[in-house]
Amino acid sequence: PGTLHIIATPIGNLGDISARALEVLARVDAICAEDTRHTRQLLSHFGMERPLLALHQHNEDAQAAQLVARLQAGDSLALVSDAGTPLVSDPGFRLVRAAREAGVRVSPVPGACAAIAALSVAGIASDRFAFEGFLPAKSGARRERLARLAAETRTLIFYESAHRIEESLADFVAAFGPDRRAVLARELTKLFETVLDGDLATLLTHVQADPNQRKGEFVLVVEGIGDDTEAKLVEGRRLYLMLSAHLP
Ligand code: SAM
Repeated sequence: PGTLHIIATPIGNLGDISARALEVLARVDAICAEDTRHTRQLLSHFGMERPLLALHQHNEDAQAAQLVARLQAGDSLALVSDAGTPLVSDPGFRLVRAAREAGVRVSPVPGACAAIAALSVAGIASDRFAFEGFLPAKSGARRERLARLAAETRTLIFYESAHRIEESLADFVAAFGPDRRAVLARELTKLFETVLDGDLATLLTHVQADPNQRKGEFVLVVEGIGDDTEAKLVEGRRLYLMLSAHLP
């Protein structure tokens, strides 16, 4: 059978494509892409034109079986997403699982990932961290998620989009307290790259004060809470808030 290559692409700066990514993209039989137009542009930047197939969250299940059949018949395929590493807040999980279950070799071509790029410049403990991806879009669900994460001792990494960054930061301040240390990484590797650090309240003030700081793509890295005592305190406050809602 052929191999399924999972290939990372740049998160902004096209110079971040790897030599091996270009080499594998040039020789596979077809490239599965989240958005074929986007990937066609990327390829044409590097002087390549390759057969593309669409694989996105809406057709992944249906496509996976066909793609696995192609792999079993001997074709080699690549999977890319619009930016960064496939499967990280991007499609591909179902295809990779189906390929593995069919005994097909799945091999990575690693490269850019916004979460790791942000962590690498945040100056926040990086020995243990949890990737939380996108928070729920609805504010109730988002607050509930944050309340559950407030006592986490590991560093937390979140993705956020321009239209919700301000609202989300306000929810972070409410759930984690204004003083929690955090880093907001915006437009990494791009022209307007900015990395703001401080406490959550300061980050919120910055984003509220400057409309430019609300544009683009964001990663928020939040410090975990210090020690067991503080964890217990936060947990105590959470339980108190939960219980007090039911008290007369
Ligand atoms: N697979 C990608 C990766 O490996 O990072 C992530 C895809 S996810 C759909 C897109 C989100 O990643 C954006 O909303 C933003 O939170 C984050 N992101 C992507 N590129 C970024 C960049 N250049 N700077 C900051 N955040 C970025």
